[in-house]
Amino acid sequence: MANSRQDMVGISVKNPITGEEIGVVPNSTREDVQAAVERAQDAQLAWGAASVEERCRVIRQWGDLLWENQQRVMKIIREETGKNDAGAFIEVMGLDNYIAYYAKNAPEILRPKRRQPIFPIIQYGRVYHKPLGVVGIISPWNYPLALSMMDAIPALLAGNTVVIKPSEITPYSALAAADLAYQAGIPENVIQIVTGDGATGEALIDYVDMICFTGSTATGRKVALKAADRLMPISLELGGKDAMIVLADADVDMAASGAVAGSYENAGQMCISIERVYVEEPIYDRFVAKVKELVSQMVIGAGDGLDIHMGSMTNERELKRVEEHIKDAVEKGAEIIAGGNRRPDLGPLFFEPTVLIHVDHSMKVMKEETFGPIIPIMKVYNVDEAIRLANDTEYGLSGAIFTRDLERGERLATRLNTGDISVNRTQAVAVSVDMSWGGHIHSGLGGQRGGTAGILRFTASQSVLVDTQIGSKPGLTAIDPTTLMFLKLIRLARRYLPFL
Ligand code: NDP
Repeated sequence: MANSRQDMVGISVKNPITGEEIGVVPNSTREDVQAAVERAQDAQLAWGAASVEERCRVIRQWGDLLWENQQRVMKIIREETGKNDAGAFIEVMGLDNYIAYYAKNAPEILRPKRRQPIFPIIQYGRVYHKPLGVVGIISPWNYPLALSMMDAIPALLAGNTVVIKPSEITPYSALAAADLAYQAGIPENVIQIVTGDGATGEALIDYVDMICFTGSTATGRKVALKAADRLMPISLELGGKDAMIVLADADVDMAASGAVAGSYENAGQMCISIERVYVEEPIYDRFVAKVKELVSQMVIGAGDGLDIHMGSMTNERELKRVEEHIKDAVEKGAEIIAGGNRRPDLGPLFFEPTVLIHVDHSMKVMKEETFGPIIPIMKVYNVDEAIRLANDTEYGLSGAIFTRDLERGERLATRLNTGDISVNRTQAVAVSVDMSWGGHIHSGLGGQRGGTAGILRFTASQSVLVDTQIGSKPGLTAIDPTTLMFLKLIRLARRYLPFL
């Protein structure tokens, strides 16, 4: 399959800031997908048979190449998304962390583990973690490098081969990463990119052994239904409507800066973006004033460097949703205290960082995923109200609590129905690779990223029990007198020998 930027009949990829065509990629057909999966199946035999340590070695080399080529890769990410330098760096850094963590920990996590069989001493048992085969990865456009490759790392280390279908809007970041993987020594059929649209993604589900999907809840539901037909393992990372709670004892400056950083990263086009803020009444006015002040200092634009705080949005579709949520909120009584407008002077898809107050749960902006640069701030009168409102959603991805009482913050975090929560920082779990995270309710299903769970989801566990037959005699039933005696003995021994 051609993966070059040459002109061809296919999908035209455009720079969202200039509107210029970056290149054209093939819109892979069902036959293309099937052929890619067949090549991946063949390649899996040798890749899966290699030692985990050997796989770690080449993945580490890949990580080094990505790091060395970060400027070029960041340029590609920025060209197809319109995000700022900081946002593109977050993708490279995030992926690098994943590679470092899993290349270090995979051998131990995947090592067969001793387990206790029913008859200790005469039997022994081990659990093995076997690769699933070919893992299909379907990824969105908002973090086109990180989200196409983050799941590939543990999947590959576990001995699978992968076929990745990046978003048609942003395929070049994944293609660039795959090129570096080949340079690092990963065979071409071990990691393949099939460019294409939703139909290409649908076809992938028909051929692979597992599907790992990141995207909207609506598409995730379609993916789950299709995968159910094949009774195949799935991992779905879906949409969110993350809440931030600011308690009366919080450091107002830190909380306000957390809200700004956590809501406007990638112009709010982040699954774990802070999309709602609940502030306790005693500090509400100070918090709102501080957020407004910080927003007034933000620089938005298409320029380079870390002092550009927000870049462009990526699609007109998201921009229209942002406008619709603002309009709906204002019609129902909200007030815009910052932003609220497009910035065509900067580019067609720029939108100002926006702050809304006097919001409530009758408004779309507090209930539906916005995926844009809006901070809606709501006053609450106690912590129970804050928790109740934060949990009043179909989503359960991530969130944050700001308080000086760290123990209380941690305790309250467990009352939120989300996959993870950070206290006094936003989105901190997602970059802490040792901590697994994944959405609850309609934000995810079937798997978590990070930690032990993040790699074991790409394996089938197999328990193997070996019976030495010491003291065993041939019998006619499963429970013969000797077995019965052993079982009774074990039951008695459990009272005195806690390891049994
Ligand atoms: P979509 O659900 O629209 O698309 C995600 C991927 O699925 C794309 O590659 C898309 O292809 C593909 N696709 C579309 N239709 C189908 C189908 N019927 N079968 C299989 N694949 C299909 O999401 P977006 O790309 O718009 O991404 C934004 C969403 O992703 C937000 O809701 C966000 O919250 C969520 N997200 C979740 C994350 C998480 O970790 N929980 C992380 C990041 C984003 P194409 O684009 O070519 O149409």
